[in-house]
Amino acid sequence: MKYMSTRGKVKGINFQDAVLMGLADDGGLLIPEEIPFMSINEIEALKDKSYQELALAIMKKYISDIGETTLEKIVFKSYEAFDDERVVPVIKLGDFYLSELFHGPTYAFKDVALQFLGNLFEYILDQRNDYLNIIGATSGDTGSAAIYGVRGKKGIKIFILHPKGRVSRMQELQMTTVLDDNVFNIAVEGTFDDCQYIVKEIFSDVEFKREHHLGSINSINWARVLAQIVYYFYSYFQTDAADSMSKVNIVVPTGNFGNILAGFYAKRMGLPINKLVIATNENNILYRFVKEGDYSIKNVVQTYSPSMDIQIASNFERFLFYLFEEDADKVRKSMEQLKVEKKIFFNDELMEKVREVFDATSTSNERNLEVIKEIYEKYKYIVDPHTACGIDAVLKLKNIYDEPFIAMSTAHPAKFIDSVVKAIGVKPEIPRGLRELEDKEKRVYELDANVNLVKKFIEKNL
Ligand SMILES: *Cc1c(COP(=O)(O)O)cnc(C)c1O
Repeated sequence: MKYMSTRGKVKGINFQDAVLMGLADDGGLLIPEEIPFMSINEIEALKDKSYQELALAIMKKYISDIGETTLEKIVFKSYEAFDDERVVPVIKLGDFYLSELFHGPTYAFKDVALQFLGNLFEYILDQRNDYLNIIGATSGDTGSAAIYGVRGKKGIKIFILHPKGRVSRMQELQMTTVLDDNVFNIAVEGTFDDCQYIVKEIFSDVEFKREHHLGSINSINWARVLAQIVYYFYSYFQTDAADSMSKVNIVVPTGNFGNILAGFYAKRMGLPINKLVIATNENNILYRFVKEGDYSIKNVVQTYSPSMDIQIASNFERFLFYLFEEDADKVRKSMEQLKVEKKIFFNDELMEKVREVFDATSTSNERNLEVIKEIYEKYKYIVDPHTACGIDAVLKLKNIYDEPFIAMSTAHPAKFIDSVVKAIGVKPEIPRGLRELEDKEKRVYELDANVNLVKKFIEKNL
């Protein structure tokens, strides 16, 4: 399999280079040159595989420059740190399914991809006798999952900037208690926007970037999308629908469009998915898009589900490429339009195509807490605020569709304990991995929000 850019100027890239490249050199995102399609019989034959075996079977189709035994080793290693041997257990709440994606080391779904990406980076760099310095900004979840993905890995150092005192206590502890030599937590005196600005400025210094082999680990890396395709298949196989290979609807709490994009690939590969439902909070650009064709960027508001407080869904460009029937010129023009006018226009014909695949909902802050309460009272099961946005979608849509629903559960409720307590007055059980953090030794470097100071800090520690 070769990879190309959504903007058409980069082609014929192999998988390993696509992983290291992150963003394509023409500013686009890398995608496989074709999407492997499987017949329903071929899919059904994968039904009884373990999570790891299934991952291998699916990933093989997208990776032709890593041998099977090596890939198998990388895959098995990536899911060792999960606290459930199924990796992604699927439970049933009443008449819908919930796919628990949060059993990794940082208790959020990003581990599924970042554990794999960390091992992949280590393998590729080792092969090439190369090294990588990862720089990133985080408002909470991505930073800890990235740090856990690469801690202790040869050839990699990671510098993660977070706004001092503005991430949750749990998120801060998850990052700062990792003491491996290759991990540098930087608490910036400023906001998340300041952190992002600093990272962007550092990356725009092309000389600095090349000299120090800088790389990023953000959600546009193709390997992250690939790793996520696996649990769409795995979750489907755990439902009764798999007995007759009939269709399901899948709901995904969405911010950057990375998770649900993997569902889109799974559908294109032939998995029997009726609708993919984009569940948003009050930052509902994607909801407005599906319902009204209105893809216009507004200001970000704070909600109980901070990992979905996003207006620019960075993975959306990949979907656009397929919506425009693989016309890279149209993608480029739309992305330019978005930059200048802060919106993209879609005609009725295109919107009809969008609605064949997607439905969408938007959940208010008030409703978010109500859903957590409803689910707790009905099933004695506690969901986190992100997952609750998804369950709200199930409750709103289940009478409209005939097919059963799977909701993706993206975080453990103990990560967002304050909102959960506000909703139900009860503390969720805190898993051991999180409980132990308070007593651990911490290491964090505090810096002013100044690009040059951060650059100097990085250079000093390389
Ligand atoms: C990152 C994240 C999301 C959003 O996922 P995207 O891939 O950005 O759409 C949802 N829930 C949680 C808990 C997250 O950490």
